Amino acid sequence: MFEGIQRGLTDAFKKLRGRGKLTADNVREGLGEVRRALLEADVNFNVVNEFIEKVEARSVGQEVLSRVDPSEQIIKIVFDELVALMGPVDHRIPFAKDRPTVIMMCGLQGAGKTTTCGKLALKLKAQNRKVLLVAADLQRPAAVEQLKVIGGQTETPVYTEATNPVDVCRNAVNYAKMQNLDTVILDTAGRLHIDEELIEELKQIDKYVKPDSVFLVCDAMTGQDAVNSSKAFHDALELNGVILTKLDGDARGGAALSIRQVAGVPIKFIGMGEKLQALEDFHPERMASRLMGQGDLMGLVEKVSRVQQEISEEEIKKQQEKLAKGSLTLEDFRNQFVQLQKMGMKDMIGMMPGMSDMIPKGEDPEVALKRVQGMIDSMTMEERRNPDLIDIPRRRRIAAGSGVQPHEVNQFLKQFEVVQNVFKQMSQMSIWQRMKMMTG
Ligand code: GDP
Repeated sequence: MFEGIQRGLTDAFKKLRGRGKLTADNVREGLGEVRRALLEADVNFNVVNEFIEKVEARSVGQEVLSRVDPSEQIIKIVFDELVALMGPVDHRIPFAKDRPTVIMMCGLQGAGKTTTCGKLALKLKAQNRKVLLVAADLQRPAAVEQLKVIGGQTETPVYTEATNPVDVCRNAVNYAKMQNLDTVILDTAGRLHIDEELIEELKQIDKYVKPDSVFLVCDAMTGQDAVNSSKAFHDALELNGVILTKLDGDARGGAALSIRQVAGVPIKFIGMGEKLQALEDFHPERMASRLMGQGDLMGLVEKVSRVQQEISEEEIKKQQEKLAKGSLTLEDFRNQFVQLQKMGMKDMIGMMPGMSDMIPKGEDPEVALKRVQGMIDSMTMEERRNPDLIDIPRRRRIAAGSGVQPHEVNQFLKQFEVVQNVFKQMSQMSIWQRMKMMTG
């Protein structure tokens, strides 16, 4: 599976890995290989171009981490962006409370729709749902029989009726109510190609039966055809998700990578074989790592993330040492809370001594901090190091630059003086005294 794309990406990464230092030119060359691999795997042309642009912008713009090979940083960016292309995915299927939940399955003939109805029935039965399968494909004569066989294999009742698709579905829902069955899976008609008649039939079922979820079953082996049909079905029916089948075969990966971006609908589940147990949740991270085929990929991703985290922590430590000496500039102050924000430790900002005064009661701390940050950003380096320089004209300039009133700049500078004094005092205290002060 995905051999072509794996080989292409491995070659591209080899080219990048060989270089000690990465320049804009050799990044571009390496990404050219990535681009070729994606196109050869039948990923949509526009998706590839947008993807490469994003990776390139992030690769060139990133700060180089001294402790990891620059190429590893790029591999991690490629991984992150592949994941972003396919996700996020919510695998939950919403269930109604006081009536049967209706799940409508559609798809082109041969995509694996009827088989997937059986797979889904098994999966839901394992969650203690009481399932009814409904044979609403009255086009293909063998379809009803096939569903009955699958019903037998999964020990699921199958509803059949020789009328028309809308009536079959409506009556099936009533039957489910009477039989105390809580989940109805509609196996609707397929065709070899999408046509008006098919779409009209599905729209009628959608209108009169109002399914809770509509899933499209797509064959991964058909590549861009799968992508285009997803778009057409989604435009007509507002799909809740795609189930991509036959990923156990030699699909090239193009459908998995393009559907979300082109059709605007996420892949939720994947078919990994003909057996009725072979339905899995779709995980973009796992798919990206399979596509990249790097044996140690997850290790690499973890390593780069860890170094990024460590560097942030080192930066904070350095600043704290400076603060501990009692010399706090506006520059340090800004860096300190930007770092905390970056590390997702927003809650700690409020614990920085003196900070609470800068956040007016009832105001969202994030808004207040943005305002403070805006004011500091509008100051020159000299002003940040020596706030005494800030006279009336400078105060007006800073206020205009950050969209606040001049008196707010004044107020902030006074509050900052308090913070500076607190830090001076703290630098004379023992660690225990400091902690006591911080936690109030
Ligand atoms: P339908 O016409 O869409 O209802 O398609 P079927 O359910 O009849 O499936 C068509 C063929 O695809 C059958 O031979 C299935 O066994 C096969 N099939 C379905 N899902 C998968 C899958 O995930 N992997 C593989 N290898 N075959 C599958």
